[in-house]
Amino acid sequence: MLASTSLMNTQEERTFTPAELLGQVDYASHSDFSVIPAEYTSKTQVYLRTETLDAFKKMFYAAKECGLDLKIISAARNFDYQKGIWERKWKDGKFIKHFGADRAKAIMRYSSMPGTSRHHWGTDIDINDLSDSYFTSNKEGKKVYEWLTTHANSFGFYQTYTSKESGRTGYEEEKWHWSYMPIAKQLLNAYNTQISYKAIVNFNGYESAELLGAIDLYVNGIDAILK
Ligand SMILES: [Zn+2]
Repeated sequence: MLASTSLMNTQEERTFTPAELLGQVDYASHSDFSVIPAEYTSKTQVYLRTETLDAFKKMFYAAKECGLDLKIISAARNFDYQKGIWERKWKDGKFIKHFGADRAKAIMRYSSMPGTSRHHWGTDIDINDLSDSYFTSNKEGKKVYEWLTTHANSFGFYQTYTSKESGRTGYEEEKWHWSYMPIAKQLLNAYNTQISYKAIVNFNGYESAELLGAIDLYVNGIDAILK
């Protein structure tokens, strides 16, 4: 009985506030979020939506039975945290040679403008390592990626930024970034209904958000199965 009740809750159409969609949230005091226990993450005081965390725990133990360690290295990040990442890159020597929209576009190969990150939602996680080579060349990493591509879907997790060869727009492929689809789909739907470019403000380069398609090509530039 309990299982079917929680399944119904997951599938119920939810409402989300614009603040939640834009990451203007204090996860520590939000009733839908839980802190991630140390066993599952390399970070301290990081949060996920409780349903995402519960699903991750199941996947974690299934992987463990196969001798693999899944560690969450990034989870929910609010607007201010994302702004910190963005502003650091904005002033970084690697990007400073570009100007205006060009600089924003260069940063957006891998990083989101504040207000447009799926990490705001508490449904998305980065697993083990932020480099492609870990998942393609490292012995352990290769096994982890093979396991995830075979099994993660059955726990509700999907690789968000898959290969761009099929025409996906936006960020480069990220083998580490996985979304908990049952809730993430609802959040995307709410985002597309409630959020316009007018809401993407208050950081360096925000004026380029519409020109670059931060919502159309990046927020929506995800694997087709997650739409
Ligand atoms: Zn990520």
